[in-house]
Amino acid sequence: MFYFERDLFIPEIDLWIDSKRVKPFGFISHGHTDHIARHKKILCSEPTAEFVKKRVKSTSFHTLKFGEEHPIGDYRISLHPAGHILGSAQIRILKNGQSLLYTGDFRLGNSRTVESFEYVPSDILIMETTFGKSQYRMPPREQVEDELIELCASLLKQNKTPVIFAYSLGKGQEALKILSDAGLPVAVDEAIERYVSVYKENGVSFGHYETFDRYDFQGRVLLLPVNFRFQKFFKNLFNGYTIYLSGWGMDQWAENRFRVDKVLPLSDHADYYQLFELVEKLKPKEIYCTHGFPQFVQELKAAGYQAKTLENSSQSELDL
Ligand SMILES: [Zn+2]
Repeated sequence: MFYFERDLFIPEIDLWIDSKRVKPFGFISHGHTDHIARHKKILCSEPTAEFVKKRVKSTSFHTLKFGEEHPIGDYRISLHPAGHILGSAQIRILKNGQSLLYTGDFRLGNSRTVESFEYVPSDILIMETTFGKSQYRMPPREQVEDELIELCASLLKQNKTPVIFAYSLGKGQEALKILSDAGLPVAVDEAIERYVSVYKENGVSFGHYETFDRYDFQGRVLLLPVNFRFQKFFKNLFNGYTIYLSGWGMDQWAENRFRVDKVLPLSDHADYYQLFELVEKLKPKEIYCTHGFPQFVQELKAAGYQAKTLENSSQSELDL
């Protein structure tokens, strides 16, 4: 049913999945740049199409609503929320009652700007396992949100400038919502603000915020893209306190690695325990892991699952 050689491919329907190389027909799971290419025809969710249009020159799109079934030959295809960023989709591919599910980047549980993850039973599960080590147990989301709000409020009180670095798509809008809903004065950079309209069109509302202005930013929380942390302007900011939002904040020395004062583990990926939770709920016949640590595959095997790393020449042993 599938074949992997640098990219995931469904030969019978000529569909490439999250390929970074341009293909005639490609599914894009979500709008992060490491998953997109300007395929001739792109299959994706509606919000993802809007994000991709802002990132690549125009091409043709086939969008599906979540849960809508699309037949291609003997196959039926549907997209389901992955809980990673707005519009992020898992793809289920069905043939003769047997199914393959590709999660793409995913996270279980709720967040403020993302559709909640949907559990979709499947025979073959291809899953993203970035945080597949037991040390990665993310604190509850509300706790991280509270910590972020309290830290920023207390810095402002001390006449310091909180400078938050977040990915311009996904984490940036999530942080903007958390901070603006809390009534904090926020100045957001254009690189993050340019995607906000897509969120609003999809029913996500935000509190008051301003556009970041290099010449007038005192008294605000600054919300900026991650690459800004290398700019001298922010490194040398008088009374500045830098914060990075990442699941890797669980690591010791995360502050040294990201060169900031504080890393808060606001993650848009499943942690180790959520990875196991997914597998235990779906009980797939075969599991293929992408990203993460080889040890996780061994742990799945020890738990009785038929698991492998998705690698070159991987293909399903199930005859679908
Ligand atoms: Zn992603």
